[in-house]
Parts: sequence; C-alpha cells; structure tokens
Amino acid sequence: MELVKHLKSIRVAHKKNTAGFAVAALPLPPEVRIPLCQHVGKPCEPLVFPGDHVLVGQKIGDSEDRLSAPVHSSVSGTVIDMIKFPDLDGNIVDHIVIATDGKQEPAPDIKPPVINTTADFVAAVKASGIVGLGGAGFPMAAKYDIMPGSIDTFIINGAESEPYITADHMTMMVYAREILDGIHTIMKWLRIGRSMIAIQTDKPDAIKQFDELIAEKQISDISVVSLPDTYPQGEEHSIVFSCTGRRFPAGKRTNVVGVLVSNVCSVLKLQQYLTSGMPLMSRAITLDGDIVAKPQNVEVPVGTTVRDILEGCGGVTEEIGKILIGGPLTGIAVPTDEYPITKRDHAVICLSRAASTTIEETACIRCDRCVKACPMDLVPFEIADAWDRRDLEAVKRLRADHCMGCNSCSFICPARRHLGYRIKNAKEAIRNAEQ
Ligand code: SF4
Ligand code: SF4
Repeated sequence: MELVKHLKSIRVAHKKNTAGFAVAALPLPPEVRIPLCQHVGKPCEPLVFPGDHVLVGQKIGDSEDRLSAPVHSSVSGTVIDMIKFPDLDGNIVDHIVIATDGKQEPAPDIKPPVINTTADFVAAVKASGIVGLGGAGFPMAAKYDIMPGSIDTFIINGAESEPYITADHMTMMVYAREILDGIHTIMKWLRIGRSMIAIQTDKPDAIKQFDELIAEKQISDISVVSLPDTYPQGEEHSIVFSCTGRRFPAGKRTNVVGVLVSNVCSVLKLQQYLTSGMPLMSRAITLDGDIVAKPQNVEVPVGTTVRDILEGCGGVTEEIGKILIGGPLTGIAVPTDEYPITKRDHAVICLSRAASTTIEETACIRCDRCVKACPMDLVPFEIADAWDRRDLEAVKRLRADHCMGCNSCSFICPARRHLGYRIKNAKEAIRNAEQ
C-alpha cells in the first residue's frame, strides 16, 4: 500500500450511515421507466413499443453513435407506454415504461460473448451497455477503443469520497475476486502493464482485503493505492495525479497521459457480462439521508423510480424537503420522486426540510478559501464575479472551462456563495457561444 501526493482537496463530514451494510436486493417494482439516453452521446432509438413483451437483458434501444450505449430491459414484462421526461441535465428524453410480470425471465440470446481479438473485446464492451457507473455516463466501449499498448497504467476508481455514499465500498467488499479478474481481462486485451486500485483511507477493510488477495494470488501487476481521506479524490484529474503524478489538460481524456480510469463497479459489471452475457440491467445505489427510515445499499433494476426505492426500503420518517440523485456535493436535486435510477446514478439522498434549507448568500469577503480548495488551481470567486457581469471574455481568461464541477468552492465558502453553480453556467455559456 502506498500513500500519495494529491491535488488540493477539502475535508467533508462523511455521514456514511450505510458503512458496513451489504448490498441487498430491492423487491421488484411494479414498473420501470427506462430512459433511452443514459450516456453522453445521442439518445438511442427505441426497438420496442407499447404492447410488446420484453425479457430481462433484451436490447430495447440502440444507436450508431460512438458515444452512445445500447439500452436493455431490466425486467420481464410488457411495454405499457413511451413517455417524455426530463433527465438530470434537464433534457427531455424518451422513456420506455415497462410493467413487470414478476418472472424476471432472461432473454434467450443471453450468453457470454466469444472474444478472440481486441476488436471483439471492444465490441463486447459496447454490447454490455456499460457506461461510467461513477456518474460520468461516458460509454465504456468508447473509452476502451484505444490502440492496444498505448496505455501504461489502468486506475480502478474505488475512492467514493462524497458523503453518504458507500455502494462502491460494499461492492468491493463482496466482489473483490471478480474485480481482480475483470482488471486482468481488461489489461490483457488492451495490453496494459500495470493497474492500481485506488481507495481512500476511510475504507481500511477494502484496502486490506485487496492487499491480502493480491499477496495470496501472487499478483505482481496490480497494486493498491491508498488515497487521502478528503474530497474530491475520485475525480479523474485528482485520481490520476494521486496515482501517477501526471496531469492532463482540461477537456482531454486521461489517455493523453497514458492512463485509463474506470470505476470499480464498471469493472465488476463488465466482468459479469463477459462471464454471463447479461448486459447491464441493475446497479448498486446508496439510499440515505436524515429522514430515510432504513438507510441501506440496494441493487436496483435500471429504471426503478425513487418512489419505488423508498417504498421498498421502508420509506421516510417525515415530509421530504429535498431529494438528491447523487451525493450532496455533485448530486442533482429533483422536484419529484418519479425520477428513475439510470446506469450512472449511484445514490438517492432524501433530506428533511430543516436539512435542506438554503442559506442566503452574502457578499464575498475575499478570504481565498475557495482558491485554496480548488483542485484545478482556479480562482472561483473571480470567475463567479465575471459571470455575474456576463463578461464571457473574462470567464474564458480565468479558465472556467477547466472546472471539474466538484463544488468544493461552494462547500467551503463562508459567505455561502453558489460558486460552482455560477461556474457551471459560465462554462455552458462559453460552450454555446463557441458553437
Ligand atoms: S470562499 Fe467565498 S467569501 Fe471567500 S473568497 Fe471565495 S467566494 Fe469569497
Ligand atoms: S467546482 Fe470548479 S472552480 Fe469550484 S473548486 Fe471545483 S474545480 Fe474549482
């Protein structure tokens, strides 16, 4: 185990009420709402329509776009509707609504893919439907479609530095052997020489378990890197620097510095697909928050709504003030419990009215705390001021496009200024202006 140098980061209260809670299966919901866009690319076209009977793992949406991933049914049942519903970015997306029949009958063509070449491997990754399960939504196949041998380091992201969330941690505790097998499979087909499993020091049991397994199996090409117990260790710029000392330009992918990064659950899901042929149809999430009756980690079929997750997990103890999909720093507040869990969502946090009250922001006191917190060495208060003036030239000069959206600056600000929100809007304005 090595301890590492790291980019700037902050301390946040963990509040991990589900630490030590194994991932349990959720009772099958009465219906699922599966979005046809759960990735960064173009939405998929539907392959099924109301009235069709579907089976678990059946492909129900697909696209030729390189940055898209096929969508599969997470349940067996009947398609009852196609609805338009906003995703977490506010885009209106087609959702296929499927009434479950309770049988969970698998599609007949489910079988492990035959892989003889790297091209076969990348095609299999594409067929698995897996996208970055850490929240990025970048299709795994697009990430892995690289020249074999061009990457020297594979980083497996097990940092999970946001408060509340423990789903990756508990997945690592149960599936460590499969994760190691998955890492070796990826290393073999992409010809990568070394891998690092990066885990924060607040998960000593996961670090110990991987260290012991690596020693037991006499593995020499995979090591465990112990990351500081601060936020945001799991973000790609931070984790690449912590593991390799390398920095890569904002807007570029990690492969420009010879590094590939995948979330630990993405690696596990890929290994499970390669051995079973069952594409991504469920994922582990953490349900937590101060009013959740029984905080827990649950494996939920993709498309399960927040409402059905809450019902299946014992509900809430008082009126909901705020629902977050994702963690408290980077998650998105949603106005209704009808939002479905997609491939990229890893947590649902329900907060009371008292815990979700917005504190009025006050004037900047030029304390520099946001500057000291920013992993990308930006000056958040200056970017926010420039955006308030709608001075896009200044926003560009201050490199708002380098912002990774971690919201450390907003969290640390004593004036409670919504810095991250302003900088996100400023980035979008620059992008739109350039287009
Ligand atoms: S942390 Fe807040 S108050 Fe301090 S300089 Fe930054 S914006 Fe201003
Ligand atoms: S949200 Fe952007 S500006 Fe704020 S700390 Fe993170 S990277 Fe820096």
